[in-house]
Amino acid sequence: MYLEKLNPQQRAAVEYGTLADGAHIAGPLLVIAGAGSGKTNTLAHRVAHLIVKGADPRRILLMTFSRRAAAEMARRVERICAQVLGSNSGIMADALAWSGTFHGIGARLLRDYAEQIGIDPAFTIHDREDSADLMNLIRHELGFSKMESRFPTKGTCLAIYSRVVNSESELSLVLRDAFPWCSAWENQLQELFGAYVEAKQNQNILDYDDLLLYWAQMVSEPIIADDIGSRFDHVLVDEYQDTNRLQASILLALKPGGQGLTVVGDDAQSIYSFRAATVRNILDFPAAFSPAANIVTLDRNYRSTQPILAAANAVIDLASERFTKNLWTERQSAQRPRLVTVRDEADQARYVVDKVLENREEGVRLKQQSVLFRASHHSGALEVELTRRNIPFVKFGGLKFLDSAHVKDMLSALRFAQNPRDRVAGFRLMQLLPGVGPSTAQRVIDQMAADASPLQALAELPAPPRSGENWTAFVSMLQEVKTGKAGWPAEIGLVREWYCPHLERLHEDASTRQADLLQLEQIAGGYPSRERFLTELTLDPPDATSDQAGVPLLDEDYLILSTIHSAKGQEWTRVFMLNVVDGCIPSDLAVGTSAEIEEERRLLYVAMTRAKDNLDLVVPQRFFTHGQNAQGDRHVYASRTRFIPATLLQFFEVVGWPQARTDGGASHQARQVRVDVGARMRGMWR
Ligand code: ATP
Ligand code: MG
Repeated sequence: MYLEKLNPQQRAAVEYGTLADGAHIAGPLLVIAGAGSGKTNTLAHRVAHLIVKGADPRRILLMTFSRRAAAEMARRVERICAQVLGSNSGIMADALAWSGTFHGIGARLLRDYAEQIGIDPAFTIHDREDSADLMNLIRHELGFSKMESRFPTKGTCLAIYSRVVNSESELSLVLRDAFPWCSAWENQLQELFGAYVEAKQNQNILDYDDLLLYWAQMVSEPIIADDIGSRFDHVLVDEYQDTNRLQASILLALKPGGQGLTVVGDDAQSIYSFRAATVRNILDFPAAFSPAANIVTLDRNYRSTQPILAAANAVIDLASERFTKNLWTERQSAQRPRLVTVRDEADQARYVVDKVLENREEGVRLKQQSVLFRASHHSGALEVELTRRNIPFVKFGGLKFLDSAHVKDMLSALRFAQNPRDRVAGFRLMQLLPGVGPSTAQRVIDQMAADASPLQALAELPAPPRSGENWTAFVSMLQEVKTGKAGWPAEIGLVREWYCPHLERLHEDASTRQADLLQLEQIAGGYPSRERFLTELTLDPPDATSDQAGVPLLDEDYLILSTIHSAKGQEWTRVFMLNVVDGCIPSDLAVGTSAEIEEERRLLYVAMTRAKDNLDLVVPQRFFTHGQNAQGDRHVYASRTRFIPATLLQFFEVVGWPQARTDGGASHQARQVRVDVGARMRGMWR
């Protein structure tokens, strides 16, 4: 039986409130526990158990951090239910329909309730890049970009805006605390943000932040909150430590008494405060639902061997905050995690690839191994080495497939057909046509905006000079897609047919890009509608791969490369971590305040606790970084991260690689040059 595999605490969390009667819905439950203690596993068992006991899966709302995690959870639940109820009980087929990310679920609810809250349900969603483009457009329109002294860039403007929204604080305070060099522009920024909000509304656009903001606004109306809340008997949230205040307020509005609410998380793994997530949500949960909140803690780690757990615990024990968790494991091993010193990034890449291949020889598949890093660009040298040696890999949290120009063009066309008021999409598309420049595009878009039915208006406008047939083809493609006659996903073929001549004209490597477009069509086939496809892709794009043909098939073997942020919640038999040096972790960009440094320490803890059997932390003694001028690369000397001081070396096996060139062992560590990389890197920009 599935419950027998659980330990007593896990079982208590799974069965909480479901023992007496399946229909009875219990009060709030908090599972707060360390890494690898089975929180996610327990949550999956709880959902399955609720269903087995008679809960309606369509009335379960399950929110996780990424779409990938949601899909994995649904798979686990399905497996357990199939075991208990039989695989043809039919209960699961698509039944767990309400599982996803906060943003994705928010988008769906906003469409459902659009009419009641006065928005058009056909709204499109802007990703960060689109939002920055729109901010830029308005910056120009208001004339701020032409001012004598430099006005903040579009990226900075967006960062300030997002911070204000997510932290629910005032512009002046955000400027004072986080962007003091922009304070002189407060009035202009105020005006810019006002115009930005207005533009989004006129164009029927929501950005990432809006999905939570509108959702929170919507449920601040008790009747709607009650209506949505009563659609779900159970609301369950994983990784609760990384939610922000808006998310907590949404939960509270949906389930004011915490009835049917379960959240799980680990305060020692809170790593998203730069997006206004706050660890207070999880710490304050018991008080918010007092006196009803039931708390379960788990202290047995099932993931890692004892030496890996000991090292990770030692790292987090040095935190200035105390996390009172005593994780233990029964998984004994003689192998301590390794701290591997290499000469530079090229050697680091060679070391990792050699070891990965050795592991594969030993029978550890590529998929059971991963390489983690603090920042996406840290994996550059490794990616080159992997490609050179023909090792397939997938990269999480890196440059996304969807960021490539041609894929964005295709998506813009679908978006513009769906919502012809979307200026950023329209602006991008029209300029693909020969003879259409920014001012023409702008004029056409303005004329469309003035009309109640913008696509109709577009069709009636004369074609801009020199655009001729291209213009006609463009307009009829949009109209055809808009009718939806071709059906989904066939209509994406219409867009591709229209786009291909432009692709060939604009890009030399058109044929490889065409392969991406076919890939996009294949991905599209996995979604029920254009709307869901656009929404979910914008919110959580598929991962970048080494393979031009796109995401490898599930049964293929490939190595995982991932930022630490994207590795959250996952585990691998063997884990490598790159650039375990000061300047990379803690990142040189995050050493301003002690809170930032503490978050970097938790990041290292998250990285280390991903490993089951083997963990290698690699320390290059120097690495190359691109200078700003054309003179080429410069290198800086690196020293081991401050989070592993000499007192912690006992937890590691300290080695040099290649062994012939160094004498290895602790003496090698002692000879390492200690230089402040951070200062050197900053110096480069002066
Ligand atoms: P993280 O904090 O990293 O998100 P977690 O607490 O969510 O970790 P899980 O990912 O759920 O932990 O579980 C870690 C590993 O331990 C998984 O491989 C899981 O299958 C295993 N595990 C959890 N509970 C048990 C158990 N009772 N018996 C055996 N294995 C277990
Ligand atoms: Mg987990």
